[in-house]
Amino acid sequence: MLKRTHTCGQLRLEDAGKKVTLAGWVHSYRDHGNLVFIDLRDREGLTQLVFNPETQPQAHNLARTARCEWVVAARGVVQPRGEGLENPKLPTGQIEVSVQEVEILNVSKTPPFEINLLGQADKTGEELRLTNRYIDLRRPEMQRRLHIRHRVSKVVRDYFDRFGFWEIETPMLAKSTPEGARDFLVPSRLLKNCFYALPQSPQLFKQILMVSGIDKYFQIVRCFRDEDPRADRQAEFTQIDVEMSFVDSNDVIGVHENLIAKIWKQILDVDVAAPMRRITYKDAMANYGTDRPDLRFDMKLKDISDIAKQSTFNVFTSAIEKGGTIKGICAPGEKYSRSDIEKTLTNFVADYGATGLSWIRLKTEICPEPGRRNGTLAFIGGLGKYFSPDLQQQIIQRFEAKDGDLLLFVADKEQVVNKALAPLRCKLARDLRLYDEKTFEFVWVIGFPLFEWNEDQKRYDSLHHPFTAPVPEDLEKLDTDPASVRSQAYDIVVNGCEIGGGSIRIHDPKVQRKVFELLNISKQQAEQQFGFFLRALEYGAPPHGGIAIGLDRLIMLLTDTDNIRDVIAFPKTQRGQCLLTDAPSEVDEKQLEELNLRTQKHLRAIEQEQTPSPER
Ligand code: ASP
Repeated sequence: MLKRTHTCGQLRLEDAGKKVTLAGWVHSYRDHGNLVFIDLRDREGLTQLVFNPETQPQAHNLARTARCEWVVAARGVVQPRGEGLENPKLPTGQIEVSVQEVEILNVSKTPPFEINLLGQADKTGEELRLTNRYIDLRRPEMQRRLHIRHRVSKVVRDYFDRFGFWEIETPMLAKSTPEGARDFLVPSRLLKNCFYALPQSPQLFKQILMVSGIDKYFQIVRCFRDEDPRADRQAEFTQIDVEMSFVDSNDVIGVHENLIAKIWKQILDVDVAAPMRRITYKDAMANYGTDRPDLRFDMKLKDISDIAKQSTFNVFTSAIEKGGTIKGICAPGEKYSRSDIEKTLTNFVADYGATGLSWIRLKTEICPEPGRRNGTLAFIGGLGKYFSPDLQQQIIQRFEAKDGDLLLFVADKEQVVNKALAPLRCKLARDLRLYDEKTFEFVWVIGFPLFEWNEDQKRYDSLHHPFTAPVPEDLEKLDTDPASVRSQAYDIVVNGCEIGGGSIRIHDPKVQRKVFELLNISKQQAEQQFGFFLRALEYGAPPHGGIAIGLDRLIMLLTDTDNIRDVIAFPKTQRGQCLLTDAPSEVDEKQLEELNLRTQKHLRAIEQEQTPSPER
């Protein structure tokens, strides 16, 4: 076999005259009668091969048989392309290799879709791409993403190594750790009727490593959560998982700000300022309606309940009577017609649970209504009549609104209002192009409550997970007012996307037991599920804390895609299927028997066998 000396992306004009051997895939093929041209492709690029029938008839004849995606090695001499034949779009575009010997290493069927070199918006259906992933991953765009993923992992490993973190693997066949999702279960063959759970995260193992004195741990680790499908989620995903001893939240935050800055610099050559902004959960919810605010633009939500209750507008006053809230957004209004607002925007918020969207346009009055000064900014049309001039001015001032602005309001329970207005805020900003798509705005969200009340189940849930520590000043309130206890958790958010989160942990077993109790986990349950962990805490657990950053989401941001499947070599569909290998699939009865398992299908077959057949 001819052995390659260079890659297909390597040769330049300075290499003219060199004898080289290249190997790769036939990207395109042109037979000009006398000369045959092949663009040979590998991971690194594309190089033009030229076959001359006069000088090398044998190679030329063989080259004429080659087709797209055949695997070829070629030995020849680098030469400048003829005058005017250069391709300025290719780094190798000034040269070609005049081939003396060629070897066909393998043939290929015609691929089910073209390998798009430019990485333009891909028109091939995703199903076809996933079923033929080996072809899809030949596309330079996909290879670029996988390469960036590799480079990010390398930056992460080098960074943590430099600061004394050890990479330690934790089990994949584990006992379930509650991270709020459903577990994937794996039946044990040796211990009949027992199951492992695939880890939702290595949370308890990493904490136990701190108890063991490992001090600084990290791992690039696969986690598994059997959650309902969502576009940016995979049931199997990767985290950069970290835990540190003798630290407070500022230490963990600092280490990760620097890590993020390093990744952004090395991969995108973008400077990220550290320290990053911080915002409390309370402010995030009040101003942006979400704990994942997109801070590339301002456009804060404003609560006008105090003003609205003095109006005569029934939608507002009755919402307030029912204990609701009225919040709104102010946006430049020219772009939106009445029907845009009453159809598109109203339907948009309806998808998030809002029953209506009230709106007001603002205009500087030239011919003022009686009692108003010329040139006053005021409500025009519709709702104006329900608000006295004074109330109108109060609202205008609250929003710092200008001529031509549009005010949009939702009146409902606070939760509903926030849930509808937070995405509306982002939609408006996108529609109105209020920010530069290429910027990154990082923010740490801190000061979360430890618990949130679960109305359906009438109990508290952890806002993060049950191992998150309360702030020391609030410890006493665990007994008296659990809802007001703040946690030592922190989430990192960029452009409205949460890329990671963590906390300082409870290291006192008494506090841990108390938190379990508040979460309605009985002593017996706590012992059964977490006995091993509670015992570990009893043997000198150091104060510790950590974080997990979602690697897939990070790569999505760095490679500018909203499709999580584009940053994973072998992803699953939204229904959790691998179209390449056809997993999940049915298995042999024998395998099930060994595991002491029966499927529904099997049980039905047994039932049918046992039902006596009707007599003839
Ligand atoms: N285990 C948590 C998670 O996966 C992260 C952490 O608290 O370190 O979200």
